[in-house]
Amino acid sequence: MTAAATLRRVKRAFAGDPSAGSRTGRRLGLIGAGMLLGITLVAVFAPLLAGHDPTAPSGAPYRAPSFEFPLGTDDVGQDLFAQLVYGARISLTIGVLSAILATAIGLGVALLAGSLRGRTEVLLMRVVDLALVFPFFVLVIVLAAFLGRDLLITAAVISAVLWAKPARVLYSDVLKVGEFQHVIAARAMGASNLRVLGRHVLPRIAPLGVSQFVRTANVAVFLESALAFLGLGDPNRVSWGSMLFFANSRSAFLTDAWLWWILPPGLALTLVLVGFAFLGYAIEERADPRLSGRRQPGAGRRVRRTASRPAGDEPAPQAPGTVLEVRNLSVAYRSGDHEVRAVDGIGFTAPQRSIVGLVGESGSGKSSLAFALLGMVRPPGEVQGGEILLNGRDLRSLRGPEARGIRGREIALVPQGAMSSLNPAYTIRRQVVESAALTREDPRAAGKRAREVLESVGIAPQRHGAYPHELSGGMRQRVVIAMAIANEPSLVVADEPVTGLDVVTQARILQLLLELRDRLGLTLVLISHDLRLVGRVADELLVMQGGRVVEAGAAETVMTSPCHPHTEALLAASPALREVERPR
Ligand code: ADP
Ligand code: MG
Repeated sequence: MTAAATLRRVKRAFAGDPSAGSRTGRRLGLIGAGMLLGITLVAVFAPLLAGHDPTAPSGAPYRAPSFEFPLGTDDVGQDLFAQLVYGARISLTIGVLSAILATAIGLGVALLAGSLRGRTEVLLMRVVDLALVFPFFVLVIVLAAFLGRDLLITAAVISAVLWAKPARVLYSDVLKVGEFQHVIAARAMGASNLRVLGRHVLPRIAPLGVSQFVRTANVAVFLESALAFLGLGDPNRVSWGSMLFFANSRSAFLTDAWLWWILPPGLALTLVLVGFAFLGYAIEERADPRLSGRRQPGAGRRVRRTASRPAGDEPAPQAPGTVLEVRNLSVAYRSGDHEVRAVDGIGFTAPQRSIVGLVGESGSGKSSLAFALLGMVRPPGEVQGGEILLNGRDLRSLRGPEARGIRGREIALVPQGAMSSLNPAYTIRRQVVESAALTREDPRAAGKRAREVLESVGIAPQRHGAYPHELSGGMRQRVVIAMAIANEPSLVVADEPVTGLDVVTQARILQLLLELRDRLGLTLVLISHDLRLVGRVADELLVMQGGRVVEAGAAETVMTSPCHPHTEALLAASPALREVERPR
């Protein structure tokens, strides 16, 4: 991905929501930006504005303001106005430099922790927590006194104490973005961590990164002047803090000189701090609405290794002609001492070209089972036991790249909620191309494949350039199905693919799945809460309740003579009369 493309995406993220940010916010932002621009101009044109060398005596000591010395001179005859003008350079340089460093470190930590998860995540976030509670002003004084006073060292010292805040804020948003449906969908289709970061996570958190940058710059400017005021600044440069240091140490307070020696740098400093604060406020307001409802700190950080099978205990081989075989699979979610068994010892087989319908009320564990099949159960959930055999391979023994290599290529997920599985910022063609590119190096081959699959799910070429919001729900569902089959998987798990669609569209999508099964020889696990609907196309039905299978059998049998009361209840809940024939 090119830098220009990333930039475009970031711009789009900023421009995305015109209603974001209040009027006051926008005004404050403009005022802040104006103040900073003015000070930047002063800093850039300092040599033209100053008139004298700020570090050499150029007149008599303690001169009152005059045309030649607008702010008079200090005790050794140095031009105070020249010092003020040159001081802007130091403040801005330190502010920007430290903020770049601190935000970059924070961003790096946030991305590492948020995408690697596991032990690295826990360790990194502990360090962040520690850095956050440390009294940073004391730390900065100690470090500055110890390491020296050079400008670059000061910037490094300041960023060393300021990185934790951006790290913490950005981390929680990396987690948040990771839970967006289209990011989960991208993972389900086999995208690598790096790809997900570059295409989905970075563009979404960039606005927040900018606001963190401005906030950090604000604190950095303050810290620099505080250090300089304490005499810990670079002795070879004048800054506003060092002006205050000399004014204080040479008793400017006792004479009239304080009026032009102390007041101007104080005011200039205030101007920069207020400018950054206003700008930061405005950007934060724009960046936040899309990322509101953040996770509680610490959520999702509990990590437990999936219980591994003892060595040498190989699973029994799979029956021939079977694509998927699940044995005694359990998935649980833990919070504190409490544990919810979402999937409780489930087993079933899916012969080649069959459709297995998985039916149950909301919360019965269907999605958890789907995620387990794809090896995508994440903390606080864990697969507690069982075997998943796909074409003879034990999926649970696979890790990292090997597991990702299966996802999208051999087993694909049509995630629940197709409406939100698509990234609103890209055309559907691009999103399908991206899926197809997983197994195709050549962009043209990926493009060709995308056209093929889009047409095979019934989307005409003239609609391929449309954005998700321009399509109906049924069409969007077709796009997600196209993405799932782009790399010729042998098994497709479709989680509630027709929920939320009207009756006619539901029938069309089911018809499409049947056609694809016949044409491509797919095996399908079809998840729904609507027993009759799935029963119309499925060969086998599994009825789930509270994570267990309470009834299983041939679809016809289960529908016509249910044995379990829960199956009867589900049948009663599902509208009996449908206009559309079982499409066979
Ligand atoms: P379904 O897809 O059938 O509606 P789910 O698999 O989504 O069911 O959920 C099954 C159970 O697992 C529910 O009780 C739900 O509360 C719990 N569960 C699902 N996801 C999580 C999660 N991330 N954290 C905690 N509990 C969860
Ligand atoms: Mg579900």
